This record gives sequence, C-alpha cells and structure tokens, in this order.
Amino acid sequence: MSELVSDGVVRCDACPVLCRIRPGKVGACDRYANENGHLVRVDSLVVIERTQAPLVPFAQGAESWSGELGRPEGTFVTGIGATTTYPDYKPAPFIVASQHDGVDMVTVVTEGIFSYCGVKVKIDTDRFLGPEQAAVRVEGEQIGHVTTAEYGSQMLSLGGVRHLTGGSKKEGVVTCDAMLALCNRKPVELVIDGGASVVVQAGQPPVVNGQREERMRVGCGSATIGMFAPQWHGHVDEVIVVDDHITGVLSEHQGGKFLDMPPAGIRVRGRRSTPGRYFQVAEPGLGWGGTDIADPLEILEKIDPKAAWPGLRLLMVSTTGEHSAWFVLDEALSPQPAEMPPPVRKVVERIAENCEPALCTVMFMAGAGGSLRAGVTENPVRLTLSVKDALTRVTCGGAPVFVWPGGGITYMVDVARMPDNAFGHVPTPALVAPLEFTMRRDHYEALGGYTGRVVSLDEALAANRLDRRPSRAGNPWPVSSN
Ligand code: SF4
Repeated sequence: MSELVSDGVVRCDACPVLCRIRPGKVGACDRYANENGHLVRVDSLVVIERTQAPLVPFAQGAESWSGELGRPEGTFVTGIGATTTYPDYKPAPFIVASQHDGVDMVTVVTEGIFSYCGVKVKIDTDRFLGPEQAAVRVEGEQIGHVTTAEYGSQMLSLGGVRHLTGGSKKEGVVTCDAMLALCNRKPVELVIDGGASVVVQAGQPPVVNGQREERMRVGCGSATIGMFAPQWHGHVDEVIVVDDHITGVLSEHQGGKFLDMPPAGIRVRGRRSTPGRYFQVAEPGLGWGGTDIADPLEILEKIDPKAAWPGLRLLMVSTTGEHSAWFVLDEALSPQPAEMPPPVRKVVERIAENCEPALCTVMFMAGAGGSLRAGVTENPVRLTLSVKDALTRVTCGGAPVFVWPGGGITYMVDVARMPDNAFGHVPTPALVAPLEFTMRRDHYEALGGYTGRVVSLDEALAANRLDRRPSRAGNPWPVSSN
C-alpha cells in the first residue's frame, strides 16, 4: 500500500489522492504518516472486548466444578484503524480467524471509503424546522434537504454523492466535514431555508433557534384526545389539543361521543378533516403544539350561543403538555382565564409524563460496492447473496446494521451504537467507515474468499497498536455461529 519514491518520501495509495508523504509528516487525511520511510497508520486498530454481566457461582462446592468462571472468546477486531485497500485490487487488510461455540469463524475487516453515502437525521420535535424539500445548509452550502415529518419527528437527508462530489469543491468539503462531525457524534448547526436553525448531535436533544427541546409529543391532537378523554370526563366540558398537524376537539371527537359528551359549540379555525379533527388551525412555528400561536384563543373561530353555556369549562393544551390554559365562559360566552382544577392539572401533567425525551438520531447509510466486496472475495456477488441469506453478518465498528432489501449491500447504522470517533475522511471528499463481514470459515471458503490471507486473532492483535474498548451495552456480540 506504499511505495518509496525518493529521499525517504513515501506514496500512499489507500485512496485516489495518492499523497506523497515526507518523513515525519502525515497525509492529507491525517490517517497515514511517514515513519522513517515507512507508511504507518496513525490511529490504533480498535478492538472491542466483550463485557459480561457479573456471573454468580451457583455450583460452588460441587465436585465436578473447578470453581473458575469460564470466559468465552471475547475479542473482536473492528475496521476502525484497520486501513483501506481502495479500490480493492487486493484483499482486505485483515481476514481474522476466531472460534465461537467451537465453530471456526472468519471476520473480514476493512475501512470503506464512501462517496456514495449519506446521513439520515431524525429530530424529535414539534417545532417547525422547514418545509419539505427545503435546503439544509452549513456555512451557506447546501448539504441536504428536509424530507418528511413522521409522528413526533422531522427527518433530514444529508450528504449523498450529489453534495459530496457533484457540486462545487466547497460544497463537497463542507458536506463531508458536517457528515463526519455528525457521525462522530459532534454537534453541528444546520440552517434550513425558510425555517429554523437547529443544532443536531446524535443522542442529544435538538436545539431549535436556540431553544433546547425536552419532550417528544405524545401524539397528534386527535391521538391525545383519544388517549386522555376518559381521564378528563366529568372535569371538563371541552378540551382543545393544539397541534400543527391535527388539532383535536373533544366534544366533536369520537372520544367525546363515546363518553356521551354534549356538543360545546366552540368552533376552531382550520380545515375540518373528520369530526373533532382539524388541519391548519395556524401556521407552523415555535409556539403552542408546533404552531406560531402564543395565545391559544386565537384559534377559536366562533362560540355558538345555541350550544355553549355560561360556566362552560374549557381546557386548551398542547401535545407535549408544555402549554396549557384553563378558561370558563362568562355570561357573554367569552372565555375567561381561571385557575385550573387539580384533576385537570393532573391529566395535563400526565400528557407531559407520557412524552419521551426529545433526541437527535443520526443514521449513517452507505452501500458496500463491488470494489469493497472484491476485497472480501474473488466473486463479489456471492458476498451480497450471503448477506441477504443471513449467512454473513455485517457490522460497522462492531455495531449491528440494517441491510436494505434489493440489490447490493446497502446498510444503515445508528452511529450512537458505534465506538467513539469511528469515522474518518479523505479529501476526495469521502467518508471512511469501518466495516466487518463475519461468517463461518467453511462458508468463506465456498464464497471464494482469500483463505490464504487468513490470520489468527493473536497474529492480528500482535501486529498492531491496539485501542481496546468494551463492547457497547445493548449491542449483540458480532461473532456468532448461527
Ligand atoms: S488522503 Fe490519506 S488515504 Fe488518501 S492517499 Fe493521502 S494519506 Fe493516503
């Protein structure tokens, strides 16, 4: 992977940049260096070690038991720091043998260089981030776009080959830097055309226009009515749950009808969808329920004197319970603010209690192309088929991945399940991500694998500087024989 050029200068061919690196210097990606005329990987090879719940000896004293607690094979070589072989005209950097449950296994370890890759971001918030298809920018450069709102979250699609390599050089560099930071769980401020500025960090709450989100909504306004209608019954005459999508009105809603509640005669603005469900009661914004309203009474269109009555008790609440107000109609049927009765307050608090913490989720998505697969086997399509048949397990830094159906090995991984700083980059620009393929050894042979390049786990561990880390809680152990 290196060639001595002259005067101790080495050329790195781990990516198409083909850096010529002087003694004591590093290449353009900071991943390789020239150490006394030899090309070396700057970062240590990351291995994860299996953590186990403490074992409790239960057979102490039994004659057939030695008293020692068994420790199964528990070291896994990840692709982090493993080096690349791009394009893969040679076998992957590590092809490691191990045993699991007495079965011979092989793990093919590499770092992949991905210009065809993206990041999907799920932001738990009711706040309006921007219209669908709006540009998402960093430093003024478009790095992606808003896709859809799903339940209590807004989705963004970032990166992809168009932004990485299809636009200007600055666009590609900014896109790559933002994706790298997001994948390594660092905060990035994204600015959305016609919308908000949002600071995104994997596993942390989003900060929208400087305001940190705390709660993911319990459901839309209609769902909230359905969930809590029986708990309000007898304590209220009307409840309006304000939401930027579906605002719910209890006495008109099926939930109110089920409880035999009489119509309260309070009409809200917006487009009536089905009984008790209204779209577009206000514009999206940072106010009540993700709308732009600060005073909930603004969404009342009219109060029907034939149906409403003096003394009518009205609760208005948002889908997270963050906003709530209690009104009683006076003689002129005008809503007057009043102190909320404790039983009603309790249900408002229950809405808040049922909201989950608002978090940002960052999913890295890429396809292990034919070239990368050629580093695993001489017959790359067989690796695809093997993955689809669940005979080969794909992991990303030891973390489980979701492999998409259809052609190729297109996968998604939650970066929060991966080891710290698992991603790198090269200036083409492209992201560098670890990838491991684990299978039974006899299956690897049948795939056309590079069986002559298989090394023992001990050999792989001895040949490198190691960064040993405990496996992440909740992740399945990446090596298993079935
Ligand atoms: S950018 Fe990094 S990987 Fe690419 S040639 Fe230079 S040192 Fe090697």
